[in-house]
Amino acid sequence: MTNRLTIAIQKSGRLSKESMALLNACGVKFSINEARLIAHSTSHPIDLLRVRDDDIPGLVMDGVVDLGLVGENVLEEARLERIASDTAAVFQPLRALEFGQCRLSIAVPRELSYQSQADLDGMRIATTYPQLLKRYLKDNGINARVVMLTGSVEVAPRAGLADAICDLVSTGATLEANGLVEKEVIFRSQAQLIQNSETLSDEKQATIDQLLPRIDGVQMAKE
Ligand code: ATP
Ligand code: ZN
Repeated sequence: MTNRLTIAIQKSGRLSKESMALLNACGVKFSINEARLIAHSTSHPIDLLRVRDDDIPGLVMDGVVDLGLVGENVLEEARLERIASDTAAVFQPLRALEFGQCRLSIAVPRELSYQSQADLDGMRIATTYPQLLKRYLKDNGINARVVMLTGSVEVAPRAGLADAICDLVSTGATLEANGLVEKEVIFRSQAQLIQNSETLSDEKQATIDQLLPRIDGVQMAKE
């Protein structure tokens, strides 16, 4: 086992740039080789693992990496999924971060008449977040069918695959472009820094203890 702290971040996507920028602002230096999964810091005993965001919660919870930087939407979906399949779903939340803000919302086609939540009864709702959607439906006593899609959720109603969708929204432009109107916000999200629940070596813990106050400082300076 190495004493270098491993941190999983999104390889390429909406969290990548700010994840790297946060570490850089903390004084952690990297040179990224696009073709490589791993990037070694030249300033700290830290290795970055660049993966798909969906893989980050599992990598942390299974102790494959020490820390992960991931959206709360992906994290909570993975946690619920693990609970549903009787898999250990523990981790330590370290910091909520001030980027990656978005919301998971239910949207319906513009032409559909929609007065309230109750109108969702009997609908087929397409989503990439079946666990979060099922929890919302259950908590609100709504009887709807969840249609699981891993992509192109916003075109599902037009394609006749669903009556409504439950997808991530930040500005609403994508919904608008697809003739959909946001009706219910079911989850609000931002990026989180999480840690595996096991006790780390003194060396790794020391690296984290140095990193956290720097993150706080960077976040404070942004306010
Ligand atoms: P990957 O290839 O890593 O699986 P992805 O396509 O699933 O990438 P992105 O679209 O890059 O994911 O989004 C990553 C995360 O960024 C989301 O899970 C969410 O936490 C956050 N996010 C912030 N704003 C938005 C938005 N408008 N739409 C989607 N995700 C957003
Ligand atoms: Zn993803």
